[in-house]
Amino acid sequence: MIYFFVFIIGLIAGSFFNCLVSRMEEGRDFVLGRSRCSFCAHLLSWQDLIPLLSFFLLKRRCRYCREKISWQYPLVELVTGGLFVWLFYFWLSQEPLLSSLFFLFLVFSFLIIIFIYDFKYLLIPDSLILIPLLITFIYFLSKEVNLWHHFLAGLFSFLFFLLIVIITLGKGMGMGDVKLVFFLGFLLGYPDILVALFSSFLIGATIGVGLILMKKKKMKSEVPFGPFLVIGTFIAYFWGINLFNWYLTLL
Ligand SMILES: [Zn+2]
Repeated sequence: MIYFFVFIIGLIAGSFFNCLVSRMEEGRDFVLGRSRCSFCAHLLSWQDLIPLLSFFLLKRRCRYCREKISWQYPLVELVTGGLFVWLFYFWLSQEPLLSSLFFLFLVFSFLIIIFIYDFKYLLIPDSLILIPLLITFIYFLSKEVNLWHHFLAGLFSFLFFLLIVIITLGKGMGMGDVKLVFFLGFLLGYPDILVALFSSFLIGATIGVGLILMKKKKMKSEVPFGPFLVIGTFIAYFWGINLFNWYLTLL
């Protein structure tokens, strides 16, 4: 029952993230103001805004202009719902402190928003990196985590990605990715950040080659790297040390 409740909260949060991303991109005030259809700009009523349900009840079309609504909306809602359930389960299995509950949900919410933003607009706004970095910093301070250790992991990841951007002349990745990995390194520390980077390169390469083979993308077309970094971070945060040890046994 509690998990169902957490899932519903996740659906609503996912719906909010979708809305936040498009409003940030348009530079609009994202707290006030009702949502509008992105095609005909008609004001949406509450019946058009129920997570998941509206999308399927309206048969994925806008009620007013009949334009097709993107799959992004229900997908993000579902994934956020699932992720929230997982986070809650993970939190209960650890020492369930209120501070770690807020920390987990806040940081992973920002990671989802970064994922959507970069996927949609090939861009990561600085604020989406700075705010969770600050939250992590404060949380670590309260937990007496070795800040120096985490800072170095962030710094080395930052320099490594900066080097890639310089060598490839910014064709593969942008400065958004460079700033993002500083935060991810700081969040994960060593050796988890290695697991995150390795996983994201592996997943990115697999999907990249897949897209080229399926002729969905050309060799030169831009594929955002941020979403892969977010997936890699997710893997590393929850299974990092196990994967790292498993890898060492292979050597
Ligand atoms: Zn419309």
